[in-house]
Amino acid sequence: MIIFDLQFLSLYLLVFVFGLVIGSFLNVVIYRVPNNISISKGRSYCPKCNHKIQNRDLIPVLSYLILGGKCRHCKGKISLRYPIIELTTGLLALGIVLIKGIFLEALILFAIGAILLAITMIDWDTMTIPNSLIIALVPLAILLAWATGDWNIWGRIIGALVISVPMYISLYFIEESFGGGDIKLFAALGLLLGWEKILLTLIIASVIAAIIGITMTKSKKESIKGKHIPFGPYICFGAMIAILFGDAILSWYLGFYI
Ligand SMILES: [Zn+2]
Repeated sequence: MIIFDLQFLSLYLLVFVFGLVIGSFLNVVIYRVPNNISISKGRSYCPKCNHKIQNRDLIPVLSYLILGGKCRHCKGKISLRYPIIELTTGLLALGIVLIKGIFLEALILFAIGAILLAITMIDWDTMTIPNSLIIALVPLAILLAWATGDWNIWGRIIGALVISVPMYISLYFIEESFGGGDIKLFAALGLLLGWEKILLTLIIASVIAAIIGITMTKSKKESIKGKHIPFGPYICFGAMIAILFGDAILSWYLGFYI
């Protein structure tokens, strides 16, 4: 239940701002990790004029609005995706807290969601998923199992294998049917979600990818036609739905058979 008194509202505002700040950090991760630049070293700089960005211009969303979407020094256009990623991360933090409450579980889920958002954008940009981000999901899976007391070891082991192994085998028959990153991502997420929810993730990801694929094929835009579309963003989206609403969806679905 959402309680709208001042105390809770200020708490939710704090959660949202926390999300915005992490979103700002994600922008750094999304830009630096694929380019092999350390995420802890050095200040952020304008990709156009290389000018170091001062603290006053690093406020999530607000700085973008104040500067009118332009670099303070070279007046080069700053991509709208920076504030959008910050806002998305803020809303993700708020959404998780509204659904799960302010518990350790919510913080772990938010960390998972933030990594999935970074994977989504990096895969979209570069068609590859960095191993470091996939590996980061493993300790979070263990932490989540510990925080919720739901170890379900066999369910998780089967979850890690049930999609990744058939995908891996299919590579022998159809070359490049899947990217290696997608297979590893399914393995890590399967460990995190268990076999039921990783299957749910696959279904959601495939349905949405198919809908968007059909829409893109039907659109007249030649630039999009024939372009390889990364699967990672759909996997991440499906996994996030499975994480937040998986129990509700599965009990609704199983309700048809009981
Ligand atoms: Zn600049």
